[in-house]
Amino acid sequence: MIQWRPFRQVDSEQLRQRRLERALRAAREVPYYQTRLSQLNSWADAPRLPLDHFLSDPAAFYRHSAEKRSPVVKLPVADACRVAVLGAGFEESGPVRVFRYDSPQELAEYGPDAIAGPMDRIRKTALDVRAGRLKLPALERAVVVFTGLRDGMLEPGDRELFWQAFRVPVYEQLQGFHREALATECDAHEGLHVETSNALFELDSEEHLLLTGLACSAYAVVRLVTGFSARVEEGLCGCGWTGPRLLGLRSIA
Ligand SMILES: [Zn+2]
Repeated sequence: MIQWRPFRQVDSEQLRQRRLERALRAAREVPYYQTRLSQLNSWADAPRLPLDHFLSDPAAFYRHSAEKRSPVVKLPVADACRVAVLGAGFEESGPVRVFRYDSPQELAEYGPDAIAGPMDRIRKTALDVRAGRLKLPALERAVVVFTGLRDGMLEPGDRELFWQAFRVPVYEQLQGFHREALATECDAHEGLHVETSNALFELDSEEHLLLTGLACSAYAVVRLVTGFSARVEEGLCGCGWTGPRLLGLRSIA
């Protein structure tokens, strides 16, 4: 039985506005926007940020003043299980162990109930398991796959591969540049719930998904053109939660 942590709730308009104002204040601190302050008078009037402006000079969006703790991995499963995170950048806590490097023997000895990690690490692990090169004790709970601008998107066939290798449900987690969760797949597997304290998504007229970062962590972006598209829908999900969800998330870059 997979249980959900109650980390989502419907936000008030007031809370949304406060988060946007805080995000604009954070953006005004970074070099890119310091020469464009007039663009940030209000979020409603802020222009789109082309992806190549960000990727060609991420340092221009870096907030030196921000407190940058390693994020805690968001898990779709209850606490009481052993989770192996494949890849750096996350804090270890209780049942969560971080495997920074590819260490199949240690991973097998740990015997995780769930594994989480960037898409390429999960894909490689799945291919190794399926080909018999890696023997893992059977997972009991879940595979959490990190996607996003750092990691790319799931490709056709990935979910089938992960199922063949691990025989547990797959949960996609879209992450930001500091590995903060931006949107997470739920037990109903009907799209990704937006983590509204970390991200605001909207679609422009060309169906590009725009991201305004609300986590105010390492990088500040306002209306970043992500190179992804999705429908942004509110309403009740099969898991029982309401709030914005990304449906049909795909790369269009
Ligand atoms: Zn749901």
